[in-house]
Amino acid sequence: MIIVMKPSATKEDIDKVIAKVKQNGLDINLSKGAETTIVGVIGNKKKIANLQMNMMRGVEKTVRITEKYKLVSRNFHPEDTVVDVDGVKIGGKDIVVMAGPCSVESEKQLDTAAEAVAKAGAKFLRGGAFKPRTSPYDFQGLAEDGLKMMRKSADKFGLKVVTEIVDKDDIDLIGAYADLFQVGARNMQNFQMLKALGKQQKPVLLKRGLSATISEWLNAAEYIVSGGNSNVILCERGIRTYETFTRNTLDLSAVAAVKELSHLPIIVDPSHGTGRWQMVAPMSRAAIAAGCDGLIIEVHPHPESALSDGDQSLTPKKFGQIMEELRKIAEVMGRKI
Ligand code: PEP
Ligand code: MN
Repeated sequence: MIIVMKPSATKEDIDKVIAKVKQNGLDINLSKGAETTIVGVIGNKKKIANLQMNMMRGVEKTVRITEKYKLVSRNFHPEDTVVDVDGVKIGGKDIVVMAGPCSVESEKQLDTAAEAVAKAGAKFLRGGAFKPRTSPYDFQGLAEDGLKMMRKSADKFGLKVVTEIVDKDDIDLIGAYADLFQVGARNMQNFQMLKALGKQQKPVLLKRGLSATISEWLNAAEYIVSGGNSNVILCERGIRTYETFTRNTLDLSAVAAVKELSHLPIIVDPSHGTGRWQMVAPMSRAAIAAGCDGLIIEVHPHPESALSDGDQSLTPKKFGQIMEELRKIAEVMGRKI
């Protein structure tokens, strides 16, 4: 349930409402907007159902919330959340672009990619050192050596590091090199890892699971936020459908849905979303027009010899051209790259 306070409600009114909620054995989540204050009520369903708040001074109305997720819900927190990743703000006016290879392969590969994407306006270097591969015989990543290379290349070209975590026991190791933890599609419901990421403060990029509904995805985000870490960014990366021409079906309607349902920022991954480099530009343009807060794009100096996801990787030159186009779309949307 949320309790919407009147714009004229005083601090004393709000304090009394909070006290009553707490006396009933429930918790609160306070959201103070420019005009209205919203008191979110969290806890036992029965206790919430018995709570009578409408007659209290300063209360405009109470609204019953049917979704299980609360802290990530826009009902609880109407204003957009802006996540600050070591000075780079995601969810505000800027469209933040993250780019780089699927997997970290070598220092040279990474430096070439990092230099190009930084020059084109990306703010983050992406790259996997721990790769969740469908086949155990495929390249599994360079582990800590790869993380070291990521940090070095990113620092050299003024970029932040986003990289995937596949095991909760690697939080300290990866956290020592990365600015943003990426939880991949295959781990969206790795609840032990989500809980562990909720107990630390480094921001988390939570990709949508291969077959996850929007509600399941937001509940996964709730695991992290309810643990105490509100620095969560969502990422639409395509879902599995009957279509085979594309690797996944990029659900751009999820951007609009998430904006309606949640206050968390959302970025789009057109590389995994389509699996085809030819479709990365049009889907990136569409994603910005749909209202996303950023993009994560695979870029490889030599896509034809990439150890993973070459078919969906852009050359540095192509990436540079796309960024020019995206700047114009962003401007039309009142945003900036
Ligand atoms: C990746 O970003 O390289 C990746 C494995 O993505 P996803 O989890 O979306 O498949
Ligand atoms: Mn990939």
